[in-house]
Amino acid sequence: MMDNFTFPGLTTRVVFGSGTLARVEEEVRRLGHEKVLVLSTEHQKSDADRLSATLGAISAGVFAGAVMHTPVEVTQTAVEVFRASGATAVVSLGGGSTVGLGKAIALRTGADQVVVPTTYAGSEMTDILGETAGGEKTTRRSPDIRPETVIYDVDLTLGLPVRLTVTSAMNAIAHAMEAFYAPDRSPVTVLMCKDALVAFRDAIPRLIESPQDRAARSQALYGAWCCSTALGYVSMALHHKLAHTFGGSFNTPHAGTHAVLLPYTTAFNEVAVPELLLPIAETFGGNSAGGALWDFARSIGSPLSLKDIGIRETDLDRAAAIATKNAYSNPRPVEAGPIRELLQAAWEGRRPGDLS
Ligand code: NAD
Repeated sequence: MMDNFTFPGLTTRVVFGSGTLARVEEEVRRLGHEKVLVLSTEHQKSDADRLSATLGAISAGVFAGAVMHTPVEVTQTAVEVFRASGATAVVSLGGGSTVGLGKAIALRTGADQVVVPTTYAGSEMTDILGETAGGEKTTRRSPDIRPETVIYDVDLTLGLPVRLTVTSAMNAIAHAMEAFYAPDRSPVTVLMCKDALVAFRDAIPRLIESPQDRAARSQALYGAWCCSTALGYVSMALHHKLAHTFGGSFNTPHAGTHAVLLPYTTAFNEVAVPELLLPIAETFGGNSAGGALWDFARSIGSPLSLKDIGIRETDLDRAAAIATKNAYSNPRPVEAGPIRELLQAAWEGRRPGDLS
């Protein structure tokens, strides 16, 4: 029970189900647009081409150049293509990289966004945009960044590779973990995050056995929506800062980095706010939230150590220095020594709770 809270209200329209890709045109027209540019990565270009063909006259074509971390050079090219195409809105079909490109175009042109997410990364419900320029990633929040409409189509996730299914789910759970202790949390975000934990706990083991299990896919995508919504309406802390440090300065894979760090950042902050992280141990089982997430990660074959994702032990001092350079809000003070210990444990893949 929370005695005091402010809830800003949800602004993004959501369509969720199976076969909902067929509703893109209806949703585009609902926003008052008659020409859209379809966005994707090169990898998902054939899906984008198919969608563009289905959209017929309202499609202004496909830009399939989205890449991880939204480099500004790609955005500049995409904005030129968007302006030349006569489109007034974008349809972003893909994971966080494609959603990020759509947000970057929207911020520069005022385009509306219809987003069709195909991973669990959770960018679609947020007002957050991370962009890379000159090798540095900066993040900003603005109401102009938040997509107008999100269409979740379970069918598009049936082919999500198992490894990305696992790490993307851990990426989503990381949003929930930090939302539990965010100072601007509300009963809506807390309830959604609790529901998301149950959804992922039940769905991911089933998807490892049977990746095309539509019911389990639906459950996982529902969890992703919950976590994305929480991420979009509260502030993040240490976990996202560390993930950002490794992704931005060491070029580690986005979802895998979140997956490795999550048990360690959870254990670190659990010391300060054990009661707020109680839902995690209650859902996944065990005496501690950090330990419970490590056990879950191991059971689903998620990467467990920073060395598994290409970090060298000699990188850890630099990572700790970058992550502690600027002050930011976190339930437990962020100090160089304890953060270095956290990174050592994460590099070795030691189960949290066993920290010496
Ligand atoms: P991604 O979008 O880069 O996707 C990874 C790869 O998987 C891509 O090649 C993609 O085309 C492919 N893929 C996606 N869905 C697929 C599917 N269903 N089937 C087969 N292949 C598929 O990775 P991601 O983890 O979704 O997103 C990571 C990016 O999103 C990062 O840049 C991160 O910073 C950003 N992000 C931003 C926010 C935010 O709120 N701003 C939130 C979460 C993530």
